Amino acid sequence: MRKNIVAGNWKMNKSFDEADELVNGIMELLEKKELGKNTLMILCPPFPYLEMVSDYSNDSYFMVGAQNVNDNDKGAYTGEVSAGMLASMEIEYCIVGHSERRAYYGETDAIIAKKVDQLLKNDIRPIVCCGEVLEEREAGKQFDVVKRQISEGLFHLSAEQFKSLVIAYEPVWAIGTGKTATPEQAQEIHAFIRQTIAEKYGKDVADEISILYGGSCKPSNAKELFANPDVDGGLIGGAALQAEDFVNIAMSF
Ligand code: PEP
Repeated sequence: MRKNIVAGNWKMNKSFDEADELVNGIMELLEKKELGKNTLMILCPPFPYLEMVSDYSNDSYFMVGAQNVNDNDKGAYTGEVSAGMLASMEIEYCIVGHSERRAYYGETDAIIAKKVDQLLKNDIRPIVCCGEVLEEREAGKQFDVVKRQISEGLFHLSAEQFKSLVIAYEPVWAIGTGKTATPEQAQEIHAFIRQTIAEKYGKDVADEISILYGGSCKPSNAKELFANPDVDGGLIGGAALQAEDFVNIAMSF
């Protein structure tokens, strides 16, 4: 059975002490109310806090992910972080292709494909984001956009490699805007993504992949979204910065 996953993308937020407080808050809440057996929590802090958060993860309340990775092995890439470095810190997941990276740092599907390769080579599971912008949704192009992002970024992988992925559908118009996709909109496109994967790799592979929804997901709407058969959890931005909100979302399955 595929996992239910709630991943918190902290983006470029929190001081070191605030980050420490957030992890502690999450752990305190998880001591009181346990996560569902099939639920996996992943925390994705900024790079400088990975080690601190990883140290806490030894208590196995959650796993740890990075928010980005460079597409090269190593070398003269000032300011960048490689998949090998993350692997050497035992980081298990990494977000790739977030719409903010696509929009502000020019990440293309081709670059995303290389990043995914780097991660898989280092046994790190990519959380690959896809999703359309508002004009594309208004023009009814969301299916084409998502299909292009998935096929160009991921369809060079073998079926075995593909099984290591987590996909996050994040409509850009819903990220940080307070506008959430309706449960029907989420289910429709998640089912389409799973169908697209099934056409390339077969139904068994498609059924194994967790497909997360991202975009203004919060405790008040998580239950309705996660109740859909093809919505296997969420990639959470704003609401992941507050321990109680984040844990409540993780309890929404
Ligand atoms: C995100 O950026 O991945 C995200 C889902 O953000 P938010 O929850 O704040 O919309």
